[in-house]
Formats: sequence, C-alpha cells, structure tokens
Amino acid sequence: MSIVAIVGRPNVGKSTFFNRLIQRREAIVDSVSGVTRDRHYGKSDWNGKEFSLIDTGGYVVGSDDIFEEEIDRQVELAIDEADAILFMVDVENGVTGMDEEVAQLLRRSKKPVFLVVNKVDAANRVHDAVEFYSLGFEKYYPISSINGSGSGDLLDDLVQVLPETQEDEESDLPRFAVVGRPNAGKSSFINALIGEERFVVTDIAGTTRDSIDTKYNRFGFEFNLVDTAGIRRKSKVKEDLEFYSVMRSVRAIEHCDVVILVFDATRGFDGQVQNIFWLAHRNNKGVVILANKWDLVEKDHKTTKEMEAYVKKQCEPFTDVPIVFMSALTKQRIYKAIETAVDVYKNRSKRIKTSKLNDTMLPLIEATPPPAYKGKYVKIKFCTQLPTPYPCFAFFCNLPQYLKDPYKRFLENQLRNQFDFNGVPITIYFRKK
Ligand code: GDP
Ligand code: GDP
Repeated sequence: MSIVAIVGRPNVGKSTFFNRLIQRREAIVDSVSGVTRDRHYGKSDWNGKEFSLIDTGGYVVGSDDIFEEEIDRQVELAIDEADAILFMVDVENGVTGMDEEVAQLLRRSKKPVFLVVNKVDAANRVHDAVEFYSLGFEKYYPISSINGSGSGDLLDDLVQVLPETQEDEESDLPRFAVVGRPNAGKSSFINALIGEERFVVTDIAGTTRDSIDTKYNRFGFEFNLVDTAGIRRKSKVKEDLEFYSVMRSVRAIEHCDVVILVFDATRGFDGQVQNIFWLAHRNNKGVVILANKWDLVEKDHKTTKEMEAYVKKQCEPFTDVPIVFMSALTKQRIYKAIETAVDVYKNRSKRIKTSKLNDTMLPLIEATPPPAYKGKYVKIKFCTQLPTPYPCFAFFCNLPQYLKDPYKRFLENQLRNQFDFNGVPITIYFRKK
C-alpha cells in the first residue's frame, strides 16, 4: 500500500486534515477492535485507491523549538519513506521562514510533493493564497481542513501519482518483518540467525546500512526476513523519537505476514513498542514478541511469568500473542523465536472448514446465547470463515444490529480456544440471514 506523509510546521492544520481523511474508516476500525490506537497513522481511500496516511507532526511532543530542531530529519524521513508528501502551510500566517526551509528540502526530493494551503475558508483567503507561489512549486492546493473544501481536487491529483498496488510484486515466500525500537537488538538477532557478519552490529544508532531481505530456510520452511534496522541510514538521527521507529516500521509491517517485534527486556514494553504492536494488529498481521537481552535480566523462578503477565497487560485486549524470552547475544532461543513465527504464520493462513466450524461453534453459542436486546432474541444460525488473507469470520443471524462487542469478544475467545489462532488478530462480522 502507498504511504502518504503530511509535513509542515506546527498549527498549520495537519492533524485536522489527517482526522478528516481517516475519520470515516476509523469509525469502522474502532467498532471492530475497540482498542486505543495511534492517532497519527491511519488508512484512507479516494476513488477506490487505498493509502496509508502519516501525520508526521503528530509525533512531535513539546514546543516549537523542538520541532525546529527536528524538522529537517522529519522531512528527510518522509522523503525516504513516503510515496507522496503533502506539504501543508497556513494562509492565516502566510509564508514563514520555516515553510521556506521545508520547501527547500522538499524541492530536492524526487517524490511527488503537493503544496497544500490550508485554512482557505473564505473567498478573500483565496487571493491571499497566491503568495505561496514564492515557495517554488508549480501548483498549490487551497483547502479548508475544517469544512473540507478543496480537498477533493487535492485527493484526485494525489491518488493519480500513487503507485498501483502490485499484489505479486514480491515473492510468494512468507515475509517476516523484524521490527522494534532502535537498539532493541534487531540486527543482532538477524546476525545470530544468519551466522555470519553480513550486518554490522554496533552501539551507535544510525550506522550506514542497507535494507536487506534475507531469504532464510529453517525447519524445511523458506521465508524472507525483512530487516528494518538495516534501513536506518542517516547518522545523527535522534532515533529514540517515537516517530522514527513507527515511520520506519510502517512499510515493513504492511508488506509482511508476520511481525517479529523485538524489545529490550531491560527497558520494558513501553508506549513506543506498543505503538508498533498496534500497527501490526491494525494491519491484521501475525505477531511474535521477542523479549530480547534476557541474558541481562536478573532472574528468579518467577521472573518469566511476571514479565509475561506485564507484556500481556500492555497488549490488552489482544493478549493471545506468543512471547519468546531470548538473547541475540548468547543465541538463547533464537531458533525458538523463528519456530514461533512459523507457527504464527500457519495460524494466520489457517482455513477452517465450514462444517467443522459450525459443528464446533453452534453448540457453544447455544450454551451461551447472545443476551436479549430490547426484548428481542438474537439467533445465530450459521457461521463461516471468509476467504481473506487473515482470519475473518462471518456469523449470520436474524438481528445483527443487536449483537454487541462483549458477545463478539466471547465468540473470538471461543474461536481461540477451539482452534489455535495464537499470535493472529481475528475479525468477526455479523451478517443478516
Ligand atoms: P497541526 O499542528 O499542524 O496538526 O495543526 P492542527 O490540526 O492541530 O490545527 C491547528 C489549529 O488550526 C487548530 O486550532 C485548528 O482548529 C485550526 N485549523 C485547522 N484547519 C483549519 C482550517 O481549515 N480553517 C481554520 N480556520 N482553522 C483551521
Ligand atoms: P537494533 O538497533 O535493534 O538493530 O539493535 P542492535 O542489534 O544494533 O543491538 C543494539 C545493542 O544491543 C548492541 O550493542 C548489541 O550488542 C546489544 N544486544 C543486542 N542483543 C543483545 C542481547 O540479547 N543481549 C545483550 N546483552 N546485548 C544485546
């Protein structure tokens, strides 16, 4: 899927526009997962073309000064990672020095850039927008994020330049993406697996390396390992910023089957790791969590259990996820990690025969039927797994609108108990029959 990044200085209206574009879809996603989500990454579509949208500014917490320090890096990263860039400016303020700086960086990139002049809410503002020609772009798009005017023309042109999604551009081999925060041990893990120094491992964040997919064979199973540490190339980048780890992970996650999420067990499963976890979940990818640097953790007989409980707490409500405690340094359980990823891959591709599904699920539903709603009884008659790349189930019933999230969770738990879906998000639909 294509990635579109919105860049620009603070307060020009990036997040307002971002929210407008993803709103319709998010409403749907939320009712399904009911989980907290990253508010700066979402999916949108226009004229039937889907794309991922990233509000880069959303990742900057703090004052304008901090933004000024980071803006070059953000724009560079957007240029590296995005397929198209929306450069937003604000007609109320006119052209500022920072706008000029950003424009200069963007003009040097080969990626398509759309200059978006926001807050053009009224006719007189249309004239004011003309001054943005000074930024050196051939065209600009006057819009109002608040009332939506002008956004149609912008989106028409935007989706024109987005590459067609090529379903089979990549090999059919399963793809495992190794993701996580900087210094979690991703490269060390891949090195340990490959058993040769093809990757330079170092303590310094941002060493020059190239992105590498490694074809790998283990347990008679062939797959591609996608290294996201490898695509970290610019030095001096403050990679600790949430923005970088998320941005770097987006494409790898979208294009993989299973996410191998490496975190540093000495540092915890914090907000940044959680964001990457939710990115995987929201894209319906399989997930394996690797608690790395386990060699550094002082342990007694309870430590593993406690760590497992803690990580699962952070993952709620999607807790049916395998966690492997390992050390890339001592190579403890590195093969177990891969074996688990292979299991998750199989779970994600699992197809359950309709007859088996109904034989299993209907008695369970009968034993615990949906609660009556407004005096009406909901009767589930039939269920089937949909032919999607990840597990989706449709339950057919008389009154789908009366089935609520708690019952959906009940069904999901039953599916997980009866059939192994460890590490894989499940989607459930209620349909009228
Ligand atoms: P960001 O920092 O670039 O993400 O900017 P925000 O989306 O947070 O918007 C900054 C301010 O501009 C908020 O007060 C918005 O309500 C306002 N704003 C955003 N879009 C428009 C618009 O199209 N017209 C007007 N008049 N105000 C807007
Ligand atoms: P990346 O940025 O996620 O690719 O992390 P690296 O693989 O470059 O590792 C960052 C640092 O952590 C390096 O100094 C590694 O030697 C160290 N490291 C990685 N895995 C382990 C581990 O399992 N145990 C210990 N003690 N150190 C590790």
